[in-house]
Amino acid sequence: MNEKSSISALKGVGEKTEQMFQKLNIRRIDDLIRYYPARYEIFEEPVPISEAKEGKTCTVAGTVFGRIQVSAGKRLQVTTLHLKDITGTLKVIWFRMPFLRNTLSRGGLLILRGRVVRRREGLVMEHPEIYYPAEKYTEKLHTMQPVYHLTNGLTNNAIIKAVHQALEYANDNQDILPANLSSARGLLPYREAVAKMHFPKSKEEYIEARERFVYEEFLVFILALRRNRQDENRAGNRFYFYDQPEIDRFLREIPFELTGAQNRVWDEIRHDMQGDYVMSRLVQGDVGSGKTILAFLSLFLAGLNGYQGAMMAPTEVLARQHYANLISMLDEYHLPLKAELLTGSMTAAQKRRAYARIESGEVSIIIGTHALIQEKVTYHDLALVVTDEQHRFGVKQREALAGKGSMPHILVMSATPIPRSLAIILYGDLDISVVDELPKNRLPIKNCVVDTGYREKAYAFMRRQVAEGRQCYVICPMVEESESLEAENVTDYARMLSEELGGSIHVECLHGKMKQQEKDEIMEAFGRNEIQILVSTTVIEVGIDVPNATVMMIENSERFGLAQLHQLRGRVGRGKYQSYCIFMTSSDSDETKERLDILNHSNDGFFIASEDLRLRGPGDLFGIRQSGILDFRIADIFQDASILKKAGEDASGLLEEDPLLEEPDHRKLREYIDAKLQQIMLETTL
Ligand code: ADP
Ligand code: MG
Repeated sequence: MNEKSSISALKGVGEKTEQMFQKLNIRRIDDLIRYYPARYEIFEEPVPISEAKEGKTCTVAGTVFGRIQVSAGKRLQVTTLHLKDITGTLKVIWFRMPFLRNTLSRGGLLILRGRVVRRREGLVMEHPEIYYPAEKYTEKLHTMQPVYHLTNGLTNNAIIKAVHQALEYANDNQDILPANLSSARGLLPYREAVAKMHFPKSKEEYIEARERFVYEEFLVFILALRRNRQDENRAGNRFYFYDQPEIDRFLREIPFELTGAQNRVWDEIRHDMQGDYVMSRLVQGDVGSGKTILAFLSLFLAGLNGYQGAMMAPTEVLARQHYANLISMLDEYHLPLKAELLTGSMTAAQKRRAYARIESGEVSIIIGTHALIQEKVTYHDLALVVTDEQHRFGVKQREALAGKGSMPHILVMSATPIPRSLAIILYGDLDISVVDELPKNRLPIKNCVVDTGYREKAYAFMRRQVAEGRQCYVICPMVEESESLEAENVTDYARMLSEELGGSIHVECLHGKMKQQEKDEIMEAFGRNEIQILVSTTVIEVGIDVPNATVMMIENSERFGLAQLHQLRGRVGRGKYQSYCIFMTSSDSDETKERLDILNHSNDGFFIASEDLRLRGPGDLFGIRQSGILDFRIADIFQDASILKKAGEDASGLLEEDPLLEEPDHRKLREYIDAKLQQIMLETTL
């Protein structure tokens, strides 16, 4: 890195500040330029003092009334003044800024912007920003102020100052987009776009700038995928896979028949593994469509052919569940295969023993979490890699695991309802199979949306279900501020529910703060029906399979996204019993009603995802939220579906014209992508 490109070249960025920036992964000026705001605040017209509201940030204009006081408390110096306009006065305080008494004593109009809180003495504006003389505010009026994700010790203002300077370094030579593409798509030039991204003067400017970076992000992502495929994935199949009679026997003996869709996908998988090239296949299927058995069959086939197969799950709970199911199947159906579990929470000694068995080839099926891709794991002969619930992993983990074998077959399972057209673009490197049929024994889940007044009835309903031998989940409101609050919440709720339902029903809680072992014990006990009601946070969202559970009650369901609610609901309705989902809400806004209504009337994940998109609409850009599906910085595959489509088309055109991106016009783009891929490799081997 040359000195000029390091952020330490910026004024006011000393060694300490540089370290804080590094915590945000900002090392170079370029990183800072691309550190987009998390959201924006809009500078509105000042409000009359009488209209300042508790809990809100607002701007007020007035003159200083009376004297400015500085109280010297023991640790904290507090400056206090009273601001007056024709509607009233407001008390204002600042901490540790005694010098304000002099600066603000000159009289004249003063504009303050800050949060108003209620204290014993009444409403108080705390630590506001100062615009003095008032013209300073006029300049900002109606503009949007960026709000960045912060780290301890680094204020929003410090970042803003640094970004202002960094933007001086931005110039159109750094634009990685080929000029013909940006002009064909009508995208802003780089310099203009970064400036408007950080400091838009209006929503329109922001939308225009954002569109450019969303496009760029998609284009780079798609090209990186394709490029990776050019280099590696064309690999020939060096494994010899034969059909195994043991598998046919297994399929005859299990208590159910594969659905038509499962059979079709299993054929596609077998065909791939016996083909000329290694498999790269995405299996998409709604929650409960029975994807796990397909993964197991593939692992069996690898093992029976004398190779190893590994399956990576996104959570320990899920990995353990898969492992427990797998070994009980191996045992019950007398399959001559050994399996191993590998997760982060195992002790060092346990891990060492597992590594040894994996390396020697003694075990042929390995199930685990991220631990599977740790450097220390050496596989004996890895021929198949399955990743379950792919949307929880980035592409990078998928690739890292694939790198563990020499070009193993890759099977990716996902319940994320991405419309097929988008999936083809996003997973351009994968073939796609769809499990579009639910097992026959299923009864559609019965849904209801109710307000909190229904709670007593819901409890009575759960009591009856438990009396019939069934089990229930209660999902508690998310607490955004902190994990400990969340833990407290579910713990209290479980205690309350236990008292309510009486001693014979065993209620337990599950949350992210618990030790892994504790979580496992609870999940296992729930699996054995020793616990009848599980009060949980969304830890249980992904993949958990307890077919005896028939009631899912979700508190404060308005706080979840539709896709997430659908995943949660997918925890019930997995067996032969009628199942129920109760969406409890305390909000009576029309928007909430409309959203929940969609779930109430449909159990189809693809439909729900497309409705989610329609409702949020491409206009809802201020709730830039992480969809959790793929780790894009600003892009959202649902919301920005139309941009994704354009980027997909352009990527194809680009590669057709210049497959290795060698033309001068494509050089910067190629370098950027290569650096990205390298960074991904680095991150995954660390
Ligand atoms: P998902 O697709 O969400 O991963 P799972 O694979 O966990 O779903 O399957 C859900 C449940 O359905 C499991 O209990 C599984 O044993 C059962 N199942 C899978 N396939 C069938 C089938 N063809 N008939 C009946 N039950 C099935
Ligand atoms: Mg699953």
